[in-house]
Amino acid sequence: TAALVTSVDRVLGYADEIRHLRVRANADTAEDAARARYMGAEGIGLTRTEHMFLGDRRVLIERVILSDDEDRQAALDALLPLQRQDFIELLEQMDGLPVTIRLLDPPLHEFLPNLTELSVRVAVAEANGYSEAADLKLLAAVQRLHESNPMLGLRGVRLGLVVPGLFGLQVRAIAEAAVARKKAGGDPKVEIMVPLVGSVMELHLVADETDGIVHEIAAREGVDLHIPIGTMIELPRAALTAHRIADVAEFFSFGTNDLTQTTWGFSRDDVEAEFFATYLDKGVFTVSPFETLDADGVGRLVRIAAEEGRKTRPDLKLGVCGEHGGDPESIHFFHSAGLDYVSCSPFRVPVARLEAGRAAIAGAGSDTR
Ligand code: PEP
Ligand code: MG
Repeated sequence: TAALVTSVDRVLGYADEIRHLRVRANADTAEDAARARYMGAEGIGLTRTEHMFLGDRRVLIERVILSDDEDRQAALDALLPLQRQDFIELLEQMDGLPVTIRLLDPPLHEFLPNLTELSVRVAVAEANGYSEAADLKLLAAVQRLHESNPMLGLRGVRLGLVVPGLFGLQVRAIAEAAVARKKAGGDPKVEIMVPLVGSVMELHLVADETDGIVHEIAAREGVDLHIPIGTMIELPRAALTAHRIADVAEFFSFGTNDLTQTTWGFSRDDVEAEFFATYLDKGVFTVSPFETLDADGVGRLVRIAAEEGRKTRPDLKLGVCGEHGGDPESIHFFHSAGLDYVSCSPFRVPVARLEAGRAAIAGAGSDTR
């Protein structure tokens, strides 16, 4: 076994020497981050912060989204130290390497109480004459926010623009975590990423608020702080307006899960749908577009965004953090489209390193880099 490990290490070493693509990992916890680093990840390409709000904290985020001003502020205040600590731990594990933290992107139905259950509970209470004012208020709020298509609804940047203080809380926690790491002698390289952007205006609004908070904290703490802000490209409109978005974004990360969903119009939550098997049988595609990047459609949008974005900002950093980032065939595509890095689950990092090396050899002289 020792000999095998040594030869695997040697092969990966060769791949690392020749590849152009950096390989990062998607990680939401310090534990994931440690595993990613062990697997050779060169940073974190995506921290999905919505995963930090499950369990005990869910009720706090519910209050942030549903309550009015005073109670919302109390919930935000309770969340700040928790988020700060989350980010300190991530930055500690990834000291010296880039860590891209994505602002909250929950589909609302995953965070709010279930409308049917809540309606039944309130109806039963009313029938028995003990309805609570707080429950009625909650029901009204949940009804108001109910959507038939949450994945196409109040998600990502949209939620951040609609709920006062929500993104601000996360930006503050990120900036304070970076300050804490610097004061402890660390080398934090944190980046802020905005999800589900479709218009540069959305990004402008978030970037203005972010800059204000980062400057305020840097001045207060007497620390030099630059936190790059970038965006996911996961809607066709974002890809098609990339030249404008790059005015604000310092980096793009392709969210190929949502980009596949929105380009094909297939639900990413129903990839086991029966008709997919028929489509595979009939040869509409030979492999699910959610597994291997569809180079003609989704890939075309990736190339457009990469080219147009770099016309506006030649040093625009480009990565991918959807599932395709760890898929060998897709990695060849990303190499040829001129991306700087792929980001995938920690377990797929070694394969991604190897495949990035193979892509560099295969593409030498023939790709468009
Ligand atoms: C994506 O859409 O590809 C992505 C990485 O974001 P998420 O899967 O969290 O929506
Ligand atoms: Mg997404």
